[in-house]
Amino acid sequence: MQPRSDREPFLSVVIPLFREEQHLEKVVARIREAVDPLQQSWELILVDDGSPDGTWKKIRRLSEEHANLHGVRLSRNFGKEAALCAGLERAAGKAVVVMDGDLQHPPDLIPEMVRLWRDGGADVVEAVKDHRGRESAVNRLGSHLFYAVLNLLAGYDLKNTSDFKLLDRRVVQAWLSMGERNLFFRGMVAWLGYRREEVRFRVPERVAGTSGFSLARLVRLAITAISSFSSITLHGVTLLGGIFLVFAVVLGVQTVVNKASGEAVSGFTTVILLQLIIGSMLMISLGVIGEYIARIFNEVKQRPRYLVRDETGDSGDR
Ligand code: UDP
Ligand code: MG
Repeated sequence: MQPRSDREPFLSVVIPLFREEQHLEKVVARIREAVDPLQQSWELILVDDGSPDGTWKKIRRLSEEHANLHGVRLSRNFGKEAALCAGLERAAGKAVVVMDGDLQHPPDLIPEMVRLWRDGGADVVEAVKDHRGRESAVNRLGSHLFYAVLNLLAGYDLKNTSDFKLLDRRVVQAWLSMGERNLFFRGMVAWLGYRREEVRFRVPERVAGTSGFSLARLVRLAITAISSFSSITLHGVTLLGGIFLVFAVVLGVQTVVNKASGEAVSGFTTVILLQLIIGSMLMISLGVIGEYIARIFNEVKQRPRYLVRDETGDSGDR
């Protein structure tokens, strides 16, 4: 997607929005307060990820008030990662800040991030969670487990990282050149490399509304992340097969020797146990392979990552 005109603002701020109608004005005002003092040209790109509430109406209204605000409405809910992609494709700034639309990513950090990029020479400035804020025990445990597995399998330590980042233009270009359909923004940025700096922040409470991420959605994102960043699980299946082969040889020889010496015991329990263990290992292994086939299936279909229903500046809603 081409930028809308040949302008190139100093900074773009991209926010994916799903059911954030209630506090959108407040969010935009807080970002203005943080960015305006930089005295640089900037644009705000709001992507409505198919919200069922009045988020889009609010975006349209705000875009009439603020000339530097651009809104995009996706044709349905494609998920945060796809919405981010829509925003990044439209951002024209020399640097792009990506953040959440619920003030859990404090806009006051933006000037510091800009300073690290402009004066510190960083290509990627990441806001790292000092404190994860209030969340349920299941979420906390799940995220620990997810980051541990991802680190073990793919070698990326993403613990406490967030989607609140400043990216230099060339990092954005590099990100956009990655062609996959199974998007995991944070991991893809980590894969890119470049010079990075960190700023620390405490995650405040959501201003209002509820999180758009259910547990099922988080699990799906975790599986996408792990299967698109590592194929070690597939080699794990081979390894498992190797270990079972060793056992098979040892037990096989022992069984034959016992039989020959007439000492074979009736091993009904052993047979049942072996069947159950091997059965579940086989099914898990098939499942792991299936997971990768599903990813490949998704990739080869080559469907667009998202579809746009409306954009501010268009003639308006029918
Ligand atoms: N979001 C989105 N699409 C979705 C779910 C969430 O664009 O399907 C946006 C949401 O509006 C917010 C950001 O992604 O700006 C983070 O979402 P949320 O606050 O619900 O997640 P949490 O903070 O609980 O991880
Ligand atoms: Mg949030």
